[in-house]
Amino acid sequence: MQCADQAMYRAKNAGRGRVRVHRPEHTDTSTRTTPSVTSTLQGALERDEYRLYFQPQVDATGSLFGVEALLRWQSGSELVAPGDFIPMLEENGAIVQVGRWVLRRALGQLRQWWSQGVSVPRMAVNISPVQLETPDLCDVVTDALRTFGIPPSALELEVTERVVMSNHAACSTNIERIRASGVRLALDDFGTGYASLAYLHRYPMDTLKVDQSFVQDVTTNAKSASIVGSIIDLGRRLNLVTIAEGVETTAQAEFLRREGCAVLQGYLYDRPRPGNVAPLSDTTLNSPTIA
Ligand code: C2E
Ligand code: MG
Ligand code: MG
Repeated sequence: MQCADQAMYRAKNAGRGRVRVHRPEHTDTSTRTTPSVTSTLQGALERDEYRLYFQPQVDATGSLFGVEALLRWQSGSELVAPGDFIPMLEENGAIVQVGRWVLRRALGQLRQWWSQGVSVPRMAVNISPVQLETPDLCDVVTDALRTFGIPPSALELEVTERVVMSNHAACSTNIERIRASGVRLALDDFGTGYASLAYLHRYPMDTLKVDQSFVQDVTTNAKSASIVGSIIDLGRRLNLVTIAEGVETTAQAEFLRREGCAVLQGYLYDRPRPGNVAPLSDTTLNSPTIA
């Protein structure tokens, strides 16, 4: 049952109507963590076990467009990926507190980079649909910006469209207030949700993030290539910045640039790294710049 439970969480996190099979390599984690995952996870915030990693988003000239903050959980010696614990935080509501920590930690990091003279134009932070339904989200965001002296336009909140938003009214109010405050909004995982175009139509967005599942086989699958090309075109027509995520090869990057995708993000440029490493620093100086 525990294995099935873990698989269900993976399936849920991957989106609607998915099937996830529990594989033996998951067993270690699941038998160790599942019976007590909720209890181990409980108090992780107080025990200071969350970590933020940062991944660069690179524009056509090879300069930094921004950096995305990605959450990890340091559970003992294991660094747990967000897909393995965020669904549980969402289920028990703890994502609201953790999300607030993420926001403050991310903006604190941005402030620190700025004071060190590291030029990072903006910080992208993922927001759970559960957070989007909390009435004080906009105040939490504004408070955090004020604490670290960050202008709203240097923050981009990524809203995933993978998950069905159950309370449209609350989400709409939050999204409109956030947008009115000058904070940028990105629609994450575009194309994987059940209502991609409806979300785009309903909510005011600044950025469109093409899901990595399309990007992955853009050079090997004509359908993916057409879909990605159309999404980039859609972004252009709607005056949005288009970011392709999960870019791993030069061939993918070349295709995306040719199609007019403004910003690329993926292992080709850099993996997510802890904040003590400046984004696109010496480790990545030899990463390719594609005109
Ligand atoms: P996402 O926001 O779509 O983030 C992109 C994911 O793709 C990240 O996985 C990143 O590490 C991974 N990635 C980046 N480049 C490549 C690449 O070239 N190839 C491949 N295969 N993968 C790449 P990660 O860090 O495991 O995060 C997974 C998801 O967890 C995120 O997807 C986001 O939805 C969620 N998440 C992460 N941090 C937070 C957070 O602070 N709050 C909330 N609510 N969700 C978060
Ligand atoms: Mg994201
Ligand atoms: Mg995504």
